Amino acid sequence: MYISEILRTAKPSLSFEVFPPKTDDTYGTVSQSVGELASLKPDFMSVTYGAGGGTSKNTVRIARELQELHEMTALAHLSCVSSTREEIFAIMEQLRNANITNILALGGDRVARPDKESCPDDYHYAYELVRDIKEVGSFCIGAACYPEGHIHSESQEEDMRYLANKVQYGVDFLISQMFFDNDAFYKFIDRLQAAEICTPVLAGIMPVVSAKMIDRMLSLSGTKLTPRLQQLVEKWGDRPEDMQKAGVDYASDQILDLVSNGVRGIHLYTMNRPEVARNIMENTKLTANR
Ligand code: FAD
Repeated sequence: MYISEILRTAKPSLSFEVFPPKTDDTYGTVSQSVGELASLKPDFMSVTYGAGGGTSKNTVRIARELQELHEMTALAHLSCVSSTREEIFAIMEQLRNANITNILALGGDRVARPDKESCPDDYHYAYELVRDIKEVGSFCIGAACYPEGHIHSESQEEDMRYLANKVQYGVDFLISQMFFDNDAFYKFIDRLQAAEICTPVLAGIMPVVSAKMIDRMLSLSGTKLTPRLQQLVEKWGDRPEDMQKAGVDYASDQILDLVSNGVRGIHLYTMNRPEVARNIMENTKLTANR
């Protein structure tokens, strides 16, 4: 099913993000967590993609498993800047053969490729990938957006200009980077409206369930903690169970506020943890909109 069809209904959508195993020996564990998450019946589940294509095989495999074994609509992430056009078209072919009709088109990060002397130079930005997916046709296309601005952007205005350009190439929906301050998201929605971008935006929510993950997460994304979340981390950071509860409660409050303010959908960064997604669903009473 196309995600654009799911987003036509009035109720906010609920989706989960999972990551595929980096190595084949952990496939079974990841596959089990993904299955448990699918049993919670969100509207769709997305599967991340390792920059440079290192885990592309497992992205397609997990996405296929979601659809064939769990009857779950899958969204396959695909990033382009470290890949050749030939490689990207080959992955689109694999997705098509697996009946996966939704792609999240990403620039991704430029990474060294052990199998190549230098990083391929076929793609520079996500809009070029959107253009190529559109050329192949028959895919519903999502793309990333950044309520607090992309970490490499000079300004939010510049970010919005490039986002408008990306959307014009044929983006059907947007998924936001994680944010912890809902006001930042509401201001972003206002800026989208001012730029006449009407594409549905799903709010990316990351439950902060471990103090260990925070520094890396913030430095990679440029997202800011709110003073309240900072306090929770200081208070519970060295007590994992309490930190998990505090993180789940914070994310649940964020979601309840977003839903009451008419958000189009919630995209939960589950970190492959079914119990976290389950607790958030219980707290918020959020279910799929089908
Ligand atoms: P782009 O849209 O290309 O934007 C990247 C930067 O370039 C921005 O600063 C933008 O303003 C600027 N820009 C865009 N167009 C132009 C232009 N024409 N000229 C000059 N500057 C321009 N990474 C992964 O490796 N795998 C994943 O599975 C993955 N999933 C993600 C899911 C979501 C929802 C999000 C928000 C991010 C995800 N990422 C993932 C991270 C993402 O790949 C990085 O943030 C990457 O740096 C940018 O990707 P993008 O698609 O936003 O790129």
